[in-house]
Amino acid sequence: MQVLFDDYGRAAGFATEMVNTAPGVWHGEDQLPDVAALTSFLSEHGVDAAPEPPDLDAVHGVRSELRAVLDLRDAEAIGSRASDLAARGLGTVDLAPDDRGHLQWRARSRADAGLADRLALLGGVGVLGALRALGPERFRDCASDTCSGVFIDTTRPGRRRYCMPDLCGNRANVAAYRARRRARQG
Ligand SMILES: [Zn+2]
Repeated sequence: MQVLFDDYGRAAGFATEMVNTAPGVWHGEDQLPDVAALTSFLSEHGVDAAPEPPDLDAVHGVRSELRAVLDLRDAEAIGSRASDLAARGLGTVDLAPDDRGHLQWRARSRADAGLADRLALLGGVGVLGALRALGPERFRDCASDTCSGVFIDTTRPGRRRYCMPDLCGNRANVAAYRARRRARQG
């Protein structure tokens, strides 16, 4: 696995979506309960891997640690914990040409790194890149009252409000609609 530091948007998006598969965000229902679910989640995110049953617990562990990082709001604390995560899978840092032929910093995983360690590298680099480019104020709680998710806002305007915009945004809309209707009727 390799991650370009300037391509932090993809890696930070992966970190956000991985964290929000946790049972705590889904009223107890883990969205990565087995190897099949993990396999399709990884392929949706362009991670080339064939998870085995023993990987599952380790991946859940990295997910919890990433959640702890996304719950932080202090730049130094975020940077330090994300560096620890990235270090788990890190092999080398070097320069590699991007799509346009410009040299970019690249982190590559150790040859012997297991899946969980490689995901720790991917998530950790995503967090570090977003922190450097956008700042700690882009680490936020989901605005939906009924959701305990968190996210890194990597959008250009920086006005993202929900951890899963399609879902949490709509839940909030539904709640607001019901409240208005109750107010009219009451
Ligand atoms: Zn949410």
